[in-house]
Amino acid sequence: MRIAEVFQSIQGEGEFCGTPSIFVRTTGCNLRCWFCDTPYTSWHPEGSHQDWQALLSDLLKIDCQHVVLTGGEPLLQPQIVPLSQALTDAGRFITVETAGTIFRPVAANLMSISPKMSNSSPHEAGRWQERHNRIRQRNEPLRQLIENYNYQFKFVIDQPSDLDEVTAYLSEFPNVTGDRVWLMPQGVSVPDLAVRTQWLQPAADKLGYRLSPRRHIELFGHTRGT
Ligand code: SF4
Repeated sequence: MRIAEVFQSIQGEGEFCGTPSIFVRTTGCNLRCWFCDTPYTSWHPEGSHQDWQALLSDLLKIDCQHVVLTGGEPLLQPQIVPLSQALTDAGRFITVETAGTIFRPVAANLMSISPKMSNSSPHEAGRWQERHNRIRQRNEPLRQLIENYNYQFKFVIDQPSDLDEVTAYLSEFPNVTGDRVWLMPQGVSVPDLAVRTQWLQPAADKLGYRLSPRRHIELFGHTRGT
């Protein structure tokens, strides 16, 4: 597996916000969001190849029950399947964070799906913009994910106009209830998040969705490995 970093912190987003967690951040992504907050896993992928059994051994030495398999796009990596299963067998609680464009039969207690809206498209025309726009929403793998896992949706919201797109997107999945949907302000600084949260909180309340903080940024800033 190609791994960018492994670190301990707290989960800063969504249902388990505040939970002490180990983050296993794979490197490599099939998308290129302009606002990617981990460009070292997408635009400029870094990291070393690691044997999943050796990684498992290292993870099991850490006294922390909640493991977040994130990226990049962790579902690109075939060895995420045996790693997640072995972690589950060892009693760990697994959250998988994915953009939802790929299905792979991982073991996960929570599938955290962050579909990418049109607001994520790279600004510069070219190969990545074309590819990003073509594959950022794939309904079939997404259906498989929500049928096979306990799940949450997290939508990154940049502008108020993004909300109409979220509503239109979710209309294709009528069984998704509002309590599974988190709206999250775009931004990697406390002031940016605060400005967007001011209008996003009442909008989330009105739509029956939940507002997700980005607690790790509030606590540690936009710092790698936190
Ligand atoms: S899907 Fe996630 S990791 Fe990939 S480019 Fe977008 S924000 Fe970055």
